[in-house]
Amino acid sequence: MDAEQGAKRPTEAETRGRLTPLAPAKVRIHLTDRPVLVSEQEWPVLVQADLPIYRLTNCEPGWTWRDALRAQVRHDAQCEADPLARGVMCEWCYVTVLATLQLTTRRHLDGRMMFYALRKSRVLGVPLDPLGGSLVNTNGDFRAVLTEHAKGFADMCGGASVEALAALVDTCSRTSPAECLDDGENGREVYLGNSTSVKFTPALWPVEVESVSPYCVDCDVVDSTGESVRWYGREVLTVRRHSDGRTLVHGGGEFIDEFARQFNILNPSGGAVVPVGQGRDVPAIVRRVGKTLGLEPFTIQNCVNGLPAEELR
Ligand SMILES: [Zn+2]
Repeated sequence: MDAEQGAKRPTEAETRGRLTPLAPAKVRIHLTDRPVLVSEQEWPVLVQADLPIYRLTNCEPGWTWRDALRAQVRHDAQCEADPLARGVMCEWCYVTVLATLQLTTRRHLDGRMMFYALRKSRVLGVPLDPLGGSLVNTNGDFRAVLTEHAKGFADMCGGASVEALAALVDTCSRTSPAECLDDGENGREVYLGNSTSVKFTPALWPVEVESVSPYCVDCDVVDSTGESVRWYGREVLTVRRHSDGRTLVHGGGEFIDEFARQFNILNPSGGAVVPVGQGRDVPAIVRRVGKTLGLEPFTIQNCVNGLPAEELR
């Protein structure tokens, strides 16, 4: 067997002979009506989003997925203390991920759009399962078409909540290019909401205030660092000021824990650009952005408290 594989391996001379320019990579995509072959250069990916298809169990009445996730992080920490229970789903779990639905959007250089979905099984080694997709008329309402199909894709994976579907559609309909806020290298991109994003150069937009609150839970069990509190993510509200007087407010939530990270698509993100001359509105805008994102009152107030004080005469 080994000898056979060895014989198939290209010789050094053959490899050298292949140093001619390669044909552009083509990707085979399974749309619902037919498979298509597209080149990465002509049909670049705009957005690719992973939605966990999850189930909640053992929850108290009124719990949200966020409450359940927090309980699961705590439960995982307790299971880790027991080598036999480590990484194993049990009857006391709060959140179970059945599969992951991956939705991809691509746009041709001529403006045509395409979307398609894959199901990734939780079991390692199982191939990705194509669920179909469509080419979309450029003039159509892309968001409406995605909304129409997202539920069908989720149903093929076992079904998703209204909130999860909305997050998937919201993420995948961010197809308009981000607006550049300065003449720098524009290395950072943030989402402002309503399908709009901005790109900026962090060095030209220094942070004026950053308010951070951890997502943490006390697990009762002490880990290797002697810590019983597990930090599984954070929410952030940031105010940046350009030297020309414009202000950028942006924020959101982020999970860092390995299991919780799968739920990042459900975390809020958004912001606002405050034009020159409207600096006095910044505290009100910080409050509005923080409230819209559903951030903790403490995170919002802490951010407002850090803004430059207005001199009263
Ligand atoms: Zn468990």
